Amino acid sequence: MLIQKVDLHSHTLHSDGTLTPSELVALARERGLRALALTDHDTTGGLEEALRAAAQAGLELVPGIEVSVQYDPGTMHILGYFIDHQSPRLQERLRGFQEARRNRNPQIIQKLNEMGVSITLDEVVAESGGDQVGRPHFARVLIRKKYARDIPEAFGKYLAKGAPAYVDKRHMAPEDGIRMITESGGIAVLAHPKQLRAKTAEELEAVLDRLVAAGLGGIEAYSSSQDEKESRAYREAGERRGLFVTGGSDFHGANKSQVELGRMGDWADVRYEVVEAMRQASGRGAAA
Ligand code: AMP
Ligand code: ZN
Ligand code: FE
Ligand code: FE
Repeated sequence: MLIQKVDLHSHTLHSDGTLTPSELVALARERGLRALALTDHDTTGGLEEALRAAAQAGLELVPGIEVSVQYDPGTMHILGYFIDHQSPRLQERLRGFQEARRNRNPQIIQKLNEMGVSITLDEVVAESGGDQVGRPHFARVLIRKKYARDIPEAFGKYLAKGAPAYVDKRHMAPEDGIRMITESGGIAVLAHPKQLRAKTAEELEAVLDRLVAAGLGGIEAYSSSQDEKESRAYREAGERRGLFVTGGSDFHGANKSQVELGRMGDWADVRYEVVEAMRQASGRGAAA
């Protein structure tokens, strides 16, 4: 079970991955995947190309998204599967996320400059390839300019939550993030619950109950960032609530070079049936 047949969490250069949608689909095929979800942060810009490439490659592409919502002291990301990415209402809300990034990016630059780091927004935008700017693009420029050795160090010294150049861009409550996805026909899934940094099982249970009340449909029990024991706890917490139990590698290409597409721990078990079941439960139930 080293490489799963289904990977429900991946990024392209439309957000902060390094592959194009076509390259990502080609890699998924090379690795023998049957289904892949593209879940770029805050944008559906890569989906059309990915859907076209997947249709040609004979691979099932789940149209997805990943959004960051307000949560402390940890990080909460909500995945959306089988969203209607052409929904004008969804696109309007995603423009709000883009605006939050546009407001944040110069503030990060200012903080870095105040720390004595010589870096400009133009350099970071160039690094992003002109699409959406994310912190990994800042990290790459910092590495190139020798302010950090690698991505973990760039985040630890400058960009991570709690580090000196961190700027909070989150503007949406978890409930609203979930609603944004369900209202566009999608299934909302809690990404990598480990990042919530819940200190006790009770704390995790309470958060899940809150999210389920808002319409959460699933939990990402398997992730390249979660160990076997954590995965089991998330699976059980999900099953007790009748949630879809999903998994994904959180592949970012060279921006997270230790993560392989399709790989989320040797104990992982992501069934194709969960893809079918989510499609049925989504607004796309009737689609081929
Ligand atoms: P952004 O959406 O621009 O805030 O950037 C989020 C991205 O930064 C995510 O894809 C993460 O993979 C990456 N990231 C966040 N925190 C860290 C960290 N501590 N180390 C490495 N990458 C991180
Ligand atoms: Zn990312
Ligand atoms: Fe995430
Ligand atoms: Fe992700």
